[in-house]
Amino acid sequence: MSRVYNFSAGPAVLPEEVLREAAEEMLDYKGTGMSVMEMSHRSKAFEDIITAAEQDLRDLLNIPENYKVMFLQGGASMQFAMLPMNLMKNGVADYIVTGQWAKKAYSEAQKYGKANKIASSEDQTFSYIPDCSDLPVSEDADYVYICENNTIYGTKFKTLPNTKGKPLVADVSSCFLSEPMDVEKYGVIYGGVQKNIGPAGVVIVIMREDLIPDSVDAKVPTMLQYKTHADAKSLYNTPPAYGIYICGKVFQWLKNMGGLSVMKQRNEEKAALLYDFLDSSQLFQGTVVKKDRSLMNVPFVTGDADLDAKFVKEAAAAGLVNLKGHRTVGGMRASIYNAMPIEGVKKLVEFMKTFEAENA
Ligand SMILES: *Cc1c(COP(=O)(O)O)cnc(C)c1O
Repeated sequence: MSRVYNFSAGPAVLPEEVLREAAEEMLDYKGTGMSVMEMSHRSKAFEDIITAAEQDLRDLLNIPENYKVMFLQGGASMQFAMLPMNLMKNGVADYIVTGQWAKKAYSEAQKYGKANKIASSEDQTFSYIPDCSDLPVSEDADYVYICENNTIYGTKFKTLPNTKGKPLVADVSSCFLSEPMDVEKYGVIYGGVQKNIGPAGVVIVIMREDLIPDSVDAKVPTMLQYKTHADAKSLYNTPPAYGIYICGKVFQWLKNMGGLSVMKQRNEEKAALLYDFLDSSQLFQGTVVKKDRSLMNVPFVTGDADLDAKFVKEAAAAGLVNLKGHRTVGGMRASIYNAMPIEGVKKLVEFMKTFEAENA
């Protein structure tokens, strides 16, 4: 067996310890004689799994009592619709568009009400985060929406927008649990877990209780109402049980690592290795404004598409895989999530140095 360094943006690298544990428990989970994949979601064993997962997530993020945690399906993309369907009481929401994911969420919201684009960085191919200290937030906005870390472009909000009292809704798919967050500053935090937490198929929603409507438009499917899932503690129907089990293991792993402050330090250290090299390189350049750089997704280019392709190919041959940039951007992108060890980043930087020397 040989594992590669996987720089994929998602589905992405998971901690090796977690995979090993899951492998050990595959045929017989804690004396049940079956795999977690095979057990009833109403069983005691699974109830313990989902209860512990929620509690560990609450501990990691310090989630206050008045926030519900839901493990849902449909990916982050389902939330693009579920949010406006449930939260647009006045039928108005403000969107800050800093990349493709925010743009998709914004256009989906337009189906359900008046979605206003109150800021955007599309004029410079989403290479920066706009100043959001004094935006024209709508008087009757039900919420203000951001994508906190832009997976494709590699930017991150270092300061949250001034929402002028409106609830902030944030897609944190690609920075989930990469550093501590002040949950109380948000109305809703959600993310698909396949970037930084677990296997595709689970999306986690953390929502302030008072935002969950008791009733919504009668046409909203029961499955797409937050109340359904909040009341049933994510067990209204069969949840993505195996995925939740792996997420739970990753939460345990994060706790054992020392929690999110420690992860933040590690992530800063890894990102600095790569960014410092990019800033000193004659061949490679980062593509976004320095102050808005993401700790998780690092896009870079040589400026020559053929050379980029050569780099991606040779890197893969050296065991550094999935470095091709998003199809809409080109170039390269290294996603260096929680589970990417620092050795992987060191190896990547060494490889880049050698490639630069050979192709100067
Ligand atoms: C990947 C991603 C999505 C889409 O996730 P799916 O689970 O595939 O729907 C949405 N937002 C962000 C920030 C992402 O990185």
